[in-house]
Amino acid sequence: MISRNLITNVAKEVGFDLVGVVRAEAMPELRNRFEEWLLEGNQSTLAYLERNVDKRFDQRLLVEGVRSVVVCAVSYLSPLSRGYGDSDVPKVASYAVAKDYHRQIKQMLSELAERLCQAAPTLRYRAFTDSAPVAEKSLAVKAGLGWIGRNSLLVTPDFGSMVLLGELFISEQSDAYDEPMQDGGCGSCRACVAACPNSAILDYRAIDARRCISRLTIERADEEDALPLHGWIFGCDMCQSVCPYNRRAPLHRNPRFDAVFDPLSLDRAAWQAMSEEEFEALAGATPLTRSGLERLKSNINK
Ligand code: SF4
Ligand code: SF4
Repeated sequence: MISRNLITNVAKEVGFDLVGVVRAEAMPELRNRFEEWLLEGNQSTLAYLERNVDKRFDQRLLVEGVRSVVVCAVSYLSPLSRGYGDSDVPKVASYAVAKDYHRQIKQMLSELAERLCQAAPTLRYRAFTDSAPVAEKSLAVKAGLGWIGRNSLLVTPDFGSMVLLGELFISEQSDAYDEPMQDGGCGSCRACVAACPNSAILDYRAIDARRCISRLTIERADEEDALPLHGWIFGCDMCQSVCPYNRRAPLHRNPRFDAVFDPLSLDRAAWQAMSEEEFEALAGATPLTRSGLERLKSNINK
């Protein structure tokens, strides 16, 4: 047995903004809804979503012996997250101008786990961040961190939706578990739906990845129809920039998520003239390397 208060206190000390603890168990209703979404083909080229659905919605099938899941979130909100204003430079999603979050969150989760092991030496753990079949957003809702907004993203009341998630699967039961929020929600707001230039937001708080710029800039297959990218070369923030919760949330506090370059200083010509060496020096630590310079250049003017 491990103390929930200890977990939440240490998680905040290692730099997370929000934390909740939930039981590891099956989530059959969510699994059914996810399978309906897959049947409609909304996953597009994201074929990995079709695999391990059983594990995705029952953490005990992913990690043997897991009893609890610690769900952590950290803000990366920056002024860029609120939009590019009148600038017509090639646009990069604001999470991608900082160091790759996979590594940052894994380090934070490892530090959290090591400190929990000091209090509970028999504790075993696995850390995940967008790296395994884990229903991250659903677990965050279950843990009371927020709700699923119309744009399908987790919206938290105090930090908005520009948050990154990480989960620590632990072998101990917690002395208390968090519950979903009773209030909160999008109300009558539909700002994200109106802002999406490719009409990618579906009626039931889900995204049609076939139309979503965020996927198209990174994973578009050669044979796909040429939907416009509206100036984005990596990711897309439009349905988040307009969200009132992001408009009033504080800027991120954790320096791990500070920008390492400013896309507002790079016009089309600067991107087109960039060499691989210059790209590595500029953005080698960021998620842009997932895409590569050639694809970024090819996205300009699409
Ligand atoms: S990321 Fe961009 S394209 Fe995708 S749903 Fe949001 S606004 Fe639409
Ligand atoms: S923009 Fe409005 S509808 Fe969309 S997620 Fe934010 S609060 Fe919800």
